[in-house]
Amino acid sequence: MIVEPKVKGFICTTAHPEGCRESVRRQIAYCKSKGMVEGPKKVLVIGSSTGYGLASRIAVTYGYGADTIGVSFEKEAKGKRTATAGWYNTKAFEQIAAEDGYYAKSFNGDGFSKEMKDEVIRTIKNDWGQADMVIYSMAAPRRTMPDGTKVSSVLKTVGEEFTNKTIDLRTNEITEVTVPVANDEEIKDTIKVMGGEDWEDWIRAMADAGVLAEGATTVAYSYIGPVVTHPIYKDGSIGQAKKHLYDTSVKLTKEFADKNLKAYISVNKALVTQSSAAIPIVPLYISLVYKVMKEAGLHEGCIEQMQRLFTEKLPKNEVDEAGRFRLDDWELREDVQEKIASVWDKVTTENIKEYGDIDGYWEDFYQMFGFRYDNVDYSADVEI
Ligand code: NAD
Repeated sequence: MIVEPKVKGFICTTAHPEGCRESVRRQIAYCKSKGMVEGPKKVLVIGSSTGYGLASRIAVTYGYGADTIGVSFEKEAKGKRTATAGWYNTKAFEQIAAEDGYYAKSFNGDGFSKEMKDEVIRTIKNDWGQADMVIYSMAAPRRTMPDGTKVSSVLKTVGEEFTNKTIDLRTNEITEVTVPVANDEEIKDTIKVMGGEDWEDWIRAMADAGVLAEGATTVAYSYIGPVVTHPIYKDGSIGQAKKHLYDTSVKLTKEFADKNLKAYISVNKALVTQSSAAIPIVPLYISLVYKVMKEAGLHEGCIEQMQRLFTEKLPKNEVDEAGRFRLDDWELREDVQEKIASVWDKVTTENIKEYGDIDGYWEDFYQMFGFRYDNVDYSADVEI
């Protein structure tokens, strides 16, 4: 079948198997070029198929020489419908990692569920005995609770509504958006989906089953961003969940002190992923960040960020005053943010290409689904 991109709103409903393989191949090549350091050897990655989780899996495999188990929630191909990008990424990663001599097993299903936790724990017990690192990189719109009820996360403000510029990704038009206020129920639910509860459940279940190694490390991802996005991100409903995630890191380190567990938050850079494209205002900010950071020679994608986290920041334990790894250090540099602030008010539909890296945004967007790689033949028939 010839696979073409079909973009609907902020997602693409098709994915290209060869392009996804190319994306994985390039990320692996990057990590191989950077070399290895001493580190954990048995790593569980929850949310391992795309974005920061996939990059983490690649970074620990090729940065530590680690075996990995990955958990993600992806769809396989059906009839003429392609699989999701995360499904192709996972297949490509497993195959290349195996060729390079690494153990890489993946589970596809609901990471929130007890069944998935049991299955993964059984596999760790049988295949490894114990895991010495757990990376939690799940980003989900909803969660099925143990009693079967479903809760959804929302991207709203807390306190008062917020109006600012945004970009309409269908037309590249700069418009205004008013982000509504989340009610208490919505905030509670967002915390349930994107906060630390499920991370804690994983760690507790693993510790109870005896599959968490003494002195293990666990890390989950967060975002802070500049003042202009605070009402929708840091201080919004998602930010409340991220606060909970941080509090969970403190709680886990304290509670599992006897096992010498170290639980961390890594605050990462704003990047185009399937999750970030859905947040109002953020895609416009990302296009400005890309422009400024590329011009300053500071731009990084998920793989550069995760390679830096696992082979530099983490081994050196380079944390901020709150104990967090700061991979947003370059994004939040004063000179970078000053430049962005100076153009934020000026940017319009007419000049967005001058101030923002719209082409870079879209290149990352398409490449997330395996399209627009210059060395992939998109006119060729592929097995989906
Ligand atoms: P992503 O959408 O690329 O990845 C999400 C992953 O979660 C995928 O592997 C997906 O399969 C998996 N997943 C979703 N629901 C699942 C479920 N029910 N069971 C199992 N797996 C499930 O997202 P991302 O942007 O890489 O986000 C990962 C983390 O990084 C999130 O915590 C996010 O808040 C954080 N982060 C993202 C950015 C950014 O700009 N993208 C910046 C900083 C921090």
